Order: sequence, then C-alpha cells, then structure tokens
Amino acid sequence: MTTASNPRPETASDIASLYVGGTWRPSASGGTFPVTDPATGAWICDVSAGDAGDAAAAVAAASDAFPGWAARTAYDRADYLYRAYEVMMSRQEELARVLTSEQGKPLRAARIEVKYAADFLIWFAEEAKRVYGQTIPSARPDQRFLVMRQPVGVVGAITPWNYPISMITRKLAPALAAGCTIVLKPAEQTPLCAIEVFRILDEVGLPAGVANLVTSDSPASVGEVFLTDRNVAKLTFTGSTEVGKLLARGAADQMKRVSLELGGHAPFIVFEDADPAHAAKGAALVKFLNTGQACICPNRIFVHRSISETFIEVLRDRVTALRAGSGLTEGVAIGPLIDASAWERMAAQVSDAVAKGAELVCGGQRLAGEEVDGGYFFAPTILTGVTPDMRIYREETFGPIAPIVVFDDEKEVVEMANDTTYGLASYVYTRDISRAMRVSEALRFGIVGINDINPTSAAAPFGGMKESGLGREGAQEGITEYLETKLVGLAL
Ligand code: NAP
Repeated sequence: MTTASNPRPETASDIASLYVGGTWRPSASGGTFPVTDPATGAWICDVSAGDAGDAAAAVAAASDAFPGWAARTAYDRADYLYRAYEVMMSRQEELARVLTSEQGKPLRAARIEVKYAADFLIWFAEEAKRVYGQTIPSARPDQRFLVMRQPVGVVGAITPWNYPISMITRKLAPALAAGCTIVLKPAEQTPLCAIEVFRILDEVGLPAGVANLVTSDSPASVGEVFLTDRNVAKLTFTGSTEVGKLLARGAADQMKRVSLELGGHAPFIVFEDADPAHAAKGAALVKFLNTGQACICPNRIFVHRSISETFIEVLRDRVTALRAGSGLTEGVAIGPLIDASAWERMAAQVSDAVAKGAELVCGGQRLAGEEVDGGYFFAPTILTGVTPDMRIYREETFGPIAPIVVFDDEKEVVEMANDTTYGLASYVYTRDISRAMRVSEALRFGIVGINDINPTSAAAPFGGMKESGLGREGAQEGITEYLETKLVGLAL
C-alpha cells in the first residue's frame, strides 16, 4: 500500500525505481542509468541502477515474504491478481504510451500488448484455484499415496525489452498464483513498463516482499545473485538463447529449477494449394510485427515455386506501403530497432546474403528522413533466392527482413524447415486438411500456426523445442513451472 513512508515514484523522472520489501527506493550505490526513446534518441528519464547488493536485498525480502504468501488460500492470492487486472485495464492507454515511448512499437500494437499482459493476470487468478493434487492407488492394501503440488519458493525473473509488459506478467502472474514470491530484473532499455506494473501491485496492496523489482544496467551481477543465492529456488528467463544457456549452466550448480523462453527462427511455409495473396498478407503482418523484433517472427519464408511470383508481388506491395516513424504518430506501422547493434546486424545479414547471390526486392538499407533520423530505423526488406549458406538462413534476424526460399515438394520443405537449432514458432498455409495435420506433426516447433499468424493467448501454452527453451508459459502448464510435486506415502 502506498503510504507517506512508502512513497512511489510519481513521475517517470523519479529515480527511486527499486521496489524492495514493499518500499520504493533508489539503488544502494545511488547510481542511475538513462532511458531513451528509440524512435528519436531523446532522453526520457534516469532510473536506479541496482547492483548485486540490491538484488540480494530483494531476494532476502522475497524469502521473508514466502512462507506467509504460500500459506494464503489460492482465493486470496487470486484476488490480488484480479484487482491488478482491473487496474491495468483501466490504464491501458497510459501504459501503452509508456510502452511506445521506451520501446518504439506503434501505439496500436502497444495497446494490444497491454491487454495481452493483463490477460495473464486474470488467467492465472483463475488457474490459482485449479492446482489439483492426486491420490494414487497403491499395490499394498495398507498404503495410500497422496500427490501434492507446492510452490517452488523464491523466483528470480529476467525479462527482455521487446514485449516489456507482457513478458513480465507471463512470469509474475503464475508465480504469485502458485504461492511463490518473486524478484524481477527487467531489460535495461525498458524499465519504465516494469515500474508501471509494480506501481499497480503496490496500489492493490500486495503484501510487502511478495514481488520485488530491481532495475539495473548490470545484468550479469543481478543474474549472479539469482544463480548463487540459495534462497532463490527457481530462475525464469526470457531473452536470447546465448544468455539463456549461460544462465542454465549457472543454475545447474545448485540444481535450481529453470524455465527458458529463448530465440526463434520460425519457418513460414506456403503450399501450392494456399491462396498466395492471403498468405502474403499474413507474412507481411507477422514478419514485420514489432519491426520484426518478436521471437515468433518468421525468419525463413518458404514458398512453393508455382505461386511464388504472385506471393512475392503481393508481399512487396504490402511491405513498401508500410510507413516508418515514431509509434506515437498515427498510421505508423514500422517502429525503430532497439539500438545501433540491431542496425548493424540487419546490414550485415543483408550484405552477406547479397554477396552470396540473394536478390534484394526492396529495402536493404537504413532509413533516412526527418521522421526517422533520430532513431534506429531500417527499411522493411525482402530478399529472394536465400540459400542455407547465408547467415540469415541460420541466425535469428530480429528485425524487418523477409528472406524468401522457393521449394518444390512437401518432404523437402519440412526437412528445410526443421534444419535449425531453434524450435519456437512455425507457420503453414494450406487448404488441404490432411497436409495441415501431416506437416504440423512433422514440424519440430513448439507452436504451429495453420493459416494462423497469431497462435498465441494467455490460455495457450507458449514455448519452444530444441534451443528455443525449456518449459511453457501461459495456459494450464504455465503455473506448473512454479510448482513442485511432492509424494506422501502413508502406511496404515
Ligand atoms: P538478452 O540480451 O538475452 O536479454 C534478455 C534479458 O537478459 C535482459 O533483461 C538482459 O539485461 C538480461 N541479461 C543479459 N545478459 C545477462 C547475464 N549475463 N546475466 C543475466 N541477465 C542477463 O535478449 P534481448 O536482446 O533483450 O531479447 C531478445 C531475445 O529474446 C531474442 O532472442 C528473442 O527471440 C528472445 N525472446 C524470446 C521470447 C520467447 O518467449 N521465447 C520472447 C521475447 C523475446 P539487459 O537488458 O540489462 O542487457
């Protein structure tokens, strides 16, 4: 609850952005780091730069709060999540504006993300009451088996900048619903969305220490506390495969529980029986979603030779019509990339592909002009003639480049689609129901969209196979990531 002794940051320029044990405070060192608008480069505010000491204090607060929170009824815990949902939805517009300012996506997409984020709060408020155990018949007449589900304990959570509100609630809501307490370290580019989420938790009166926030620009030092502090029972991470592997290795030392939502390299397959114009519309929407900065964005678009000409034509028309600029401007569909290194990655993948024989249909360069000069804008790009020896065929692009590969038969394209170390999302366009079933079964991806570019929802399990991660978020499964299974055997 907000009180005079527990002031909350009233404006974005406040620097007391750590929320530890129910109190807003600056970092112990007094250090800060800047938050900027990626569309203009403009400074927005400074926030507290938490370090290892701050993270340890937050873990201690979460650890103190754990027994009390775990002992509450599921109904009680759910109540806080319901109220947080209500407040978040009542502030949808305000939150969307904060999101667009620090992350860059168009306001319309930001509103959708806020709703998606709130959906996790209400979904897990409901799931809290459905954590069922089991009784199992024993082979011995004088024995009974009882299976209990109990909260894991204190959770260390690390989230990325590309979906800076929903990636938080996708972890926070199931953790709190299960009876865990949590310490969150959000991405350093987008701490303001995290602050807004914690303002809401504070406002609905969440007990002190149940959820703690450490904004920081030294991720490794906070991560180290999550890995080494024995009070942290579980680590949940969304971000790159590279950092995910590093954390998984570190977590092995104390055998901490881990959930990892990592990178993707989604294939988008358009069969000859699909409508090429409809498929091209889908490809344009999902490839350029969040300027290509989503883990489920297609990274290789496979089109059957017989319809490839029409598909490319329609895709080009749609892509060249996309307007770039600040997400706060009406009509803008393409926001900036998050930083200069993303810009460099785009340029490197395009020049590598072109040097190896790909053809540039459109884009391929940084954008220039009054509306975009201040930010990291890259032109929406289409490459054809993409082959397996090109970097873009293997590396996650995470930007607005659509690489097209033409194929001839089903078996060949399934093999090509599966030829990646990633396994998150995949897409198939076909009107043949047998083929849809056959191909969905053969694809080694955690998510398959059949004529569907948005196979995501708080109610549906989200997660990857292979190097795209471990575990699932959302759905019934999402809460099980925060539960331990305990067997009680009783001899009569
Ligand atoms: P990232 O560089 O791995 O960063 C993700 C988070 O990890 C940030 O909070 C970052 O902090 C932190 N971090 C970085 N190094 C760390 C370390 N050594 N120890 C502890 N924490 C560390 O990834 P990103 O560039 O923000 O996000 C893009 C990636 O996320 C893409 O690969 C994308 O596919 C993936 N992603 C996956 C999903 C999914 O559900 N599977 C969803 C969204 C994004 P700083 O911000 O301070 O660097």
